[in-house]
Amino acid sequence: MRIDTKCIQSGYDPKNGEPRVLPIVQSTTYSYDTSEEMGKLFDLEAEGFFYTRLANPTLDAVEKKIADLEGGVGAMLTSSGQAASLISVTNIVKAGQHVVCSSAIYGGTFNLFNKTLRDLGIDFTFLKSNATKEEITAAFKENTRACFVESVTNPSLDVSDIQLYAEIAHSFGVPLIVDNTFPTPINFRPFEWGADIVTHSTSKYLDGHAVSLGGIIVDSGNFDWNNGKYPMLTEPDETYHGVVYTDHFGKAAYIAKARVHLMRDFGAQAAPMNAFLLNLGIETLALRMERHCSNAQKVAEFLEASEKIEWVNYPGLKSNKYYDLAKRMMPNGTCGVISFGVKGGKETAEKLMGELKLARIVTHVADARTCVLHPASTTHRQLTEQQLIDCGVAPNMIRLSVGIENSDDIIEDIKQALESC
Ligand SMILES: *Cc1c(COP(=O)(O)O)cnc(C)c1O
Repeated sequence: MRIDTKCIQSGYDPKNGEPRVLPIVQSTTYSYDTSEEMGKLFDLEAEGFFYTRLANPTLDAVEKKIADLEGGVGAMLTSSGQAASLISVTNIVKAGQHVVCSSAIYGGTFNLFNKTLRDLGIDFTFLKSNATKEEITAAFKENTRACFVESVTNPSLDVSDIQLYAEIAHSFGVPLIVDNTFPTPINFRPFEWGADIVTHSTSKYLDGHAVSLGGIIVDSGNFDWNNGKYPMLTEPDETYHGVVYTDHFGKAAYIAKARVHLMRDFGAQAAPMNAFLLNLGIETLALRMERHCSNAQKVAEFLEASEKIEWVNYPGLKSNKYYDLAKRMMPNGTCGVISFGVKGGKETAEKLMGELKLARIVTHVADARTCVLHPASTTHRQLTEQQLIDCGVAPNMIRLSVGIENSDDIIEDIKQALESC
């Protein structure tokens, strides 16, 4: 099946007389005839559902669909994108070990890594987004156990060279984890470029309607864990009667451990209702991404031509430093998010935001409705002008998430707002 067909058909295969549409299994527990049968599930000797914290039929179908879209061997939904980032790293990295990470990542991920995981004893080296091959290579240490980047970064819209990161990580016997939230598997599939693990905040384009928080981790099944660096996967886990994940689950060792070990212990499980809504969103993902990208391209070109605009950052513009890389890796487009700066600084940016009618001011990005955010007066308002510049947030920067409305209406809204500035 082609990817747009998979969006509709993958994951759920009803038997004779069963509901055609994926049902919401709103039950924490599952009934068995004997304790012995349930015991086998606990020992991972048999497959089946026994408690929704570990697995649930509605979640299971959506996990299979997203694994299929990314081309992986298995996937695990989480309660949020944050939980997916947390588990993706802690599944294979312990206190006293180290992670190489791009500094151009979502702010929430940066705080999780730089503060919370550091406090728990995991060390990080953050690379600048345009780091060279030499700089990336130099960041790896003896105790490095993972490399983490975003394919298209939120909010700076840098495009990461996944092939380059994968080659370097693999030369150190370390897997590459890619947060693929912005392009989605419709526009980019990191496994085809050498990545080993993919994460998403499904709260964004995958859900697509800003109705449910969620995250997912997908395992490519390609990384060879038997290099002596990952005893948590290749040596017995005493909490499961000595199961060795790589022996028992083969290619799916990483994602199986994420579930039976960390989901069991952390409990950041997705809700069945949210998985149902996510599935509904994914049915139209291919159509929506096409429209998000074509609309964003038109809006970016309009902004670039306007004399009231100082700069526009969108990888689909020829003037963009990532234009060639984006065209090579993502020939059908990147995403619907644009950032731009208005002439006149912070005040004019705030004025423009207030004049917009169709584009609402919200903290979210990447859903069907066009929305805007002024980082300097909201998410980054505690920073000084100098600090704003240092972290790549210009005082006049507006982040615009272009929705799937008619592009003429979006452009007319921006035009009328610019005229009153
Ligand atoms: C929003 C976002 C996250 C965090 O996801 P939540 O679902 O909000 O927890 C992680 N990575 C990226 C790229 C995001 O945009």
